[in-house]
Order: sequence, then structure tokens, then C-alpha cells
Amino acid sequence: MAYDTQPVASHFVDGAYIEDTDGELIEVVYPATGKVIARVHAATPAVIEKAMESGLRAQREWASWKGVERGRVLLRAAQIMRERNRDLSVLETWDTGKPLSETLYVDATSAADALEYFGGLAGSLTGEHVQLGNDWGYTVREPLGLCVGIGAWNYPTQISCWKGAPALACGNAMIFKPSETTPLCALKVAEILHEAGAPAGLYNVVQGMGAVGAALVSDPRVAKVSLTGSVATGRKVYAAAAADMKHVTMELGGKSPLIIFDDADIENAVGGAILANFYSTGQVCSNGTRVFVQKAIKQTFLDRLAARLQGAQIGDPMDEATTLGPMVSQRQREIVLGYIEKGLSEGARLVCGGQALEGEGFYIAPTVFADVTDDMTIAREEIFGPVLSVLDFDTEEEVIARANATEMGLSAGVFTRDISRAHRVIAQVRAGSCFINSYNDAPVELPFGGTKMSGVGRENSKTAIEHYSQLKSVYVRMGDVEAPF
Ligand code: NAD
Repeated sequence: MAYDTQPVASHFVDGAYIEDTDGELIEVVYPATGKVIARVHAATPAVIEKAMESGLRAQREWASWKGVERGRVLLRAAQIMRERNRDLSVLETWDTGKPLSETLYVDATSAADALEYFGGLAGSLTGEHVQLGNDWGYTVREPLGLCVGIGAWNYPTQISCWKGAPALACGNAMIFKPSETTPLCALKVAEILHEAGAPAGLYNVVQGMGAVGAALVSDPRVAKVSLTGSVATGRKVYAAAAADMKHVTMELGGKSPLIIFDDADIENAVGGAILANFYSTGQVCSNGTRVFVQKAIKQTFLDRLAARLQGAQIGDPMDEATTLGPMVSQRQREIVLGYIEKGLSEGARLVCGGQALEGEGFYIAPTVFADVTDDMTIAREEIFGPVLSVLDFDTEEEVIARANATEMGLSAGVFTRDISRAHRVIAQVRAGSCFINSYNDAPVELPFGGTKMSGVGRENSKTAIEHYSQLKSVYVRMGDVEAPF
């Protein structure tokens, strides 16, 4: 049975749904129709307090469990998520407007991957023994305490688990605040974790806009904050966390280069550029939106790209044949249309698309600009929509310099058949998550995150453990203490 779009109540706190209608009303809009599908309320101070208290209490209990026992809960939750993948995917589509042809394969499934991966690691999170002559020392890997996760709207289920799974595996509790644009999916994650045996309060979900996020981040009882969002929000959250020396992970925006050399397999390169710009209607932080194409293949590349874009099935996201859905919101569509206007007025050449689609829903035609230059706004600022910019280049040296001429550094990709060049280029680009002859793969086994303004810290992989735990060192003297007096 599919889930109702209207949740039982706005928040999942201390093992149950709770409501406080004094909180500001948030209307959840289905992007494909523009119709309201649910109403929730922002968390009031009373709800936040209950989330804090129950989170702190649950964390103390949870940290006393053995790692394998914690892992068992995460593994059970992963299994439940896989069993309910279709219902969770449909809900993700209601929440975000992303087509079911995507959500069935990458949202609840990647969330379950994270729960499995970190559930599997939970039993082997150890310190080490250090022999110091006759004395010795040891380290203990300890949880940080109560963590706050704050999500963006593009991958609500995945983000809630990419943060929650490593946090819980290490023995922390988490309060997760989804984006106010997509508040529905994280509630199901909380419900499932509770059903899988997590103590009440261990993973609380509270709703709200930036003000609720800010209240959570500035609470001195919180040990760590992990944000997925824009650079502007990242600056504020990082600064607020600094007041109490809280640990942070910042997964922020990007303006990533995708470099295509003239020896590349053209169909693979075009496929990579499509994945790097139109998947999730272009609303992916790691997107390769500056597509540098070596001059000799520019026309062939543009011809094949335009031809393959004809194959995009734009329409009802619930129809599994649909491959391109709407923007997440009216506001986001306006932002993207504003960038398209800028592209035109600054002299980029429109190859295809360039306009909103008629009818209901927040659709935009997939858009390609050619002859884009480095100084144009569309080549400098994150657009977060289905807009691909093609920039020409001559030499390897030139393209590396231009690829790096951005304050962002989340991702980068290169397409070439020359294996040495592929590694040489990737070695020189300043970006955290890179791809060779591919784009936007994000398996849980590999670290994910950015350099420069794109972020701090990494999600996924064994590395994430470092970001949700700390080491205590203990020196053990075996002989007498020699004091100077
Ligand atoms: P946003 O920055 O507007 O909001 C992100 C979250 O922060 C929301 O939940 C919001 O309510 C909250 N927030 C806003 N102000 C806050 C404050 N002062 N204190 C605490 N919380 C606050 O971002 P968005 O529009 O939801 O998402 C799009 C952005 O996210 C893009 O820039 C995109 O690149 C980025 N993003 C990054 C990644 C990544 O992993 N690097 C993934 C997805 C999205």
C-alpha cells in the first residue's frame, strides 16, 4: 500500500509522530502539478526541546550498546527500506518531482546502501594499542554525542541516511531537519529506524525553515553539524558551529568542470554530459555544468548531444517511461529561467531548450548553450537546473587552468582514451569527487565531498567514521612516577 502524502504529524520525535500547530505552516507542493499535497508545521521551541532531550537520552543508551548490536539495527532498517523501495520511491517523487525512473533506483536504495555499509562497519570501530617501551597507550574511538543533520531538497531520503547512518554507527544520536521544500521522506527514515529497533529519540526529524536549522546549530548541547546546502547557508552554519567548537561537515554547491578531449569516445562523452547536467533535472550539487569540449570535436559533440536530448521523455514523473521531471519548485524554476536569460543577454548561443514548458508543473526544456566563455554568469554561478554550457578549448594546459578558475571545488570529470592524460588531468584539478570516463557515480564505498568553497569533510566510506567520532588517548605507566620534587 502506497504511503499517504500527508504524514501522520509534522515531526518524528522520541519514537513517535508529534504535532504542534503553533509552528509556521509549510505547504508541500507536488512539482509536477503545483498542487498542495501535504501540510506540516515548523518546529516550535517546545518541539526542538523535546528533540534535544530525547536525543541526548537516547544517545547515552545507544553508546552503551556493542557495535554489532548497533549495526544490526542499521542492517534491519536497510532491509526494511529495500522491501518498501517502491513506496519510498513514490514518496520521494511526490516530495521532489524527480521521475520514478530515477527514484526507484537511486534514493531509498542509496539510503539503504549507507545503512548497510555503516551497519557493517559498526562492529569494527576500534582504537589501537601503542607500545611505548615498557609503558603503553591506547586509543578509544568515541562518539561525538548529539549530531544535527540539515538537508537540501534534491535527495531527501539519501541525505538523511548519508548523515544518519555513519552518525548512528559511531554511537551518536541525530536530529535531522529536512529542507522545508521536501519534508516528507526523512519522516519515513525515522519511522523505519525506530521499527528496526533504534531507541526512541535516537533519530529525530523536525521540520522547519532556516530559523529552525539555526536554532539546532546554535544549541550548545549539539556536538556536530552536518549540512547539505548552498555555500551561503554553509557560511552561516559553519560560523554558528564555531561558537562552541562544534564539529562540522559541509556539503555545499559546485560549478564543476567536465573536460572532453578530442580522442574521447563521443557517445560515452555525450552520455556523461547528459548525466552530469540533466539527471534529477540538473538539481545535483556535483553536476559538471561547465562542459569543456576540445575544438576538433565541438560540432560533432553538439550534434550528438542535441540528437540525444530529443530522446528525453519529459512528463508525468509517476510514469516510469518519463526520464526528465520538473524543477522542485516554482521559485527554483524562476531562478533557472533567470540564468537562461542571463546566458542569452551575455551572448551565449542557445542550441536547444531555453524556456519553461507550458501547462501545469514547474517544467523547463533541457537547455544547451554553446560558445560560452569563462566570464559569463552561466559559467561562474551554480544554476541547479537543466542547463548545460559548452566551452571550447585547445590545449590540456589551458583547460586545466580554466577548470580550476572557480572558487568551487566539488567535482570534475574527464573523458579521454589516453590513460596517462586522464590521470594527469585529474591529478591537477582541484576538486574532491572526480570521474574518469564517467560522471556522478557516488557509491557509498568512496568518499564524497568538496574542496575550496564546496565544503569541509567527507561523507560516505570509512572516512566518514572520522567525521562522526573522536579519539581518546590513554597513556598507561607500568612503573613508578619520576617527579622532579
Ligand atoms: P539551502 O542552503 O537554501 O538550504 C539547505 C538547508 O539549510 C535547508 O534545510 C534550509 O532550511 C537550511 N538552512 C537555511 N538557512 C539556515 C541557517 N541559517 N541555519 C541552519 N540551517 C539553515 O540549499 P537548498 O536550496 O535546499 O539546496 C540547494 C543547494 O544545496 C545547492 O547549492 C546545492 O549545490 C547544494 N547541495 C549540495 C550537495 C552536496 O553534497 N555537496 C548535495 C545536494 C545539494
